[in-house]
Amino acid sequence: MPQWDKLSPLDGASLGVVEATTPSEVSAMVVTARDAQLAWQNLGLTARGKIIRRAAEELALETDALARLVREETGKQSSLAHGELAAAIEMAEMMAAYGRFASGALFPSAIPGRQIRVERVPHGVAALIVAFNTPLPNYAWKVFPALMAGNSAILKPSPHTPLSAQLFVDVLHRSGVPHGVLQIAQGGAETAQALVTGDVNLVSFTGSYDAGVAVSEAAAGSLKKIILELGGSNPLIVCDDANIAQAVTTALQSAYSNAGQRCAAGSRILVNEKVYEAFRSEFLQQSDSWTWGTSDDVLVSTLVDSESAKKVEKYLTACEAGGAVVHRLGKGVNDSSPSTALVQPALVEGLDAKSDLGLQEIFAPVARLFSFSTDEQAIDIVSASPYGLTAAVWTRDINRAERMVGALPAGVVSINGPTHGAEINIPFGGMKSSGNGTRDAGVQAIEEYSQLRTISTFFEA
Ligand code: NAD
Repeated sequence: MPQWDKLSPLDGASLGVVEATTPSEVSAMVVTARDAQLAWQNLGLTARGKIIRRAAEELALETDALARLVREETGKQSSLAHGELAAAIEMAEMMAAYGRFASGALFPSAIPGRQIRVERVPHGVAALIVAFNTPLPNYAWKVFPALMAGNSAILKPSPHTPLSAQLFVDVLHRSGVPHGVLQIAQGGAETAQALVTGDVNLVSFTGSYDAGVAVSEAAAGSLKKIILELGGSNPLIVCDDANIAQAVTTALQSAYSNAGQRCAAGSRILVNEKVYEAFRSEFLQQSDSWTWGTSDDVLVSTLVDSESAKKVEKYLTACEAGGAVVHRLGKGVNDSSPSTALVQPALVEGLDAKSDLGLQEIFAPVARLFSFSTDEQAIDIVSASPYGLTAAVWTRDINRAERMVGALPAGVVSINGPTHGAEINIPFGGMKSSGNGTRDAGVQAIEEYSQLRTISTFFEA
């Protein structure tokens, strides 16, 4: 795609034509990034931290513009866009502060007159390729630790969110990040692949499993560091002793907030057969008051584009064709809206929990309800998934909760809580096909974006 017309999912209006960065332009960017990197590294942690703290302040000054762009580009509610900007700013603040402490360690030596220190050094040039769903945190989760660790970076946002990404990068330049240290490459898979196969030292990717595999394959043979944060099809397990009303309220949030477009969405709800009917009727009752549409005050907004909406309807048709029951939920607001990216939230019952339809990531306001008879069976159903991003267990019995958590193949687990809800200081990432063992956020992020150098000094003792 040499260029594309970015349309708002809210009403189909054009937000602007965006030029894709060509592979040869990507190569030139990588050269620029490499030329700029060492000076950025040599600036030191304190000076880099000051610039990043300034970026946090400047981003806050652009709150209205950034939140408006995110709403127009993704269709999500302004309140969500504002919350996401606040999280992005917090990540800048945390990296600016914590990054200054992440400087290294001293080790004793068995050899007299030898002193050993280990320091953290950057990888060099980092390619940062991200998903569309929570755009500002997605940029911040990668850009701030990469820059704080002393790398230069090229951000490749999703083609769904080119404008918020451009403004984000402009604000960072205005805050003092040199233009060669942070660049932006616009486009889709072709631009991303040019980065991955280019002369970069690190690729940090957030997106779907299929694209993550394509990234690994493209990088194979080069030994560059790869960070993969991929999809999920996350279970929320409700035991027979759970607080049902609270579990339902939380399950609705995990499944349908951000229109279900969360890697950590709780799209597989497993309920003990003894409380299945009680959970199901409470779920249908609570969801009845949920609103969906294009208006800014609904609970479920549009998807990111009409293609995604068509894919969901196809999925739901396949579920019905396979004998499942699809409940359409909530109250439509603005039904006369010209948006073609709207999907009415749905709950699917009667799928085989281990079938492809029961397991796959949907990335839309659709949840599936399953029943189980024993805790072991619940774990068995969860383990059948190729994914292992997040999970939640609802029970009043702490022993039971800990036993189940110990057996769950998931990188992030909550007890009596939602499947979603990342925080800047908490490492986030998945097991199995949800990633490659790396972690976003937390102090771990600085470790991912840097490597260790061991230095021995020999002196006359
Ligand atoms: P996507 O995989 O379609 O795109 C993600 C990024 O990869 C985009 O920048 C896209 O241009 C690029 N891309 C697409 N195909 C590529 C290819 N063949 N080679 C290289 N790059 C390619 O994902 P999306 O629709 O933007 O986002 C949804 C997905 O992201 C979901 O699977 C979701 O679970 C995942 N996600 C994961 C996390 C996490 O932290 N684990 C966070 C957010 C989203």
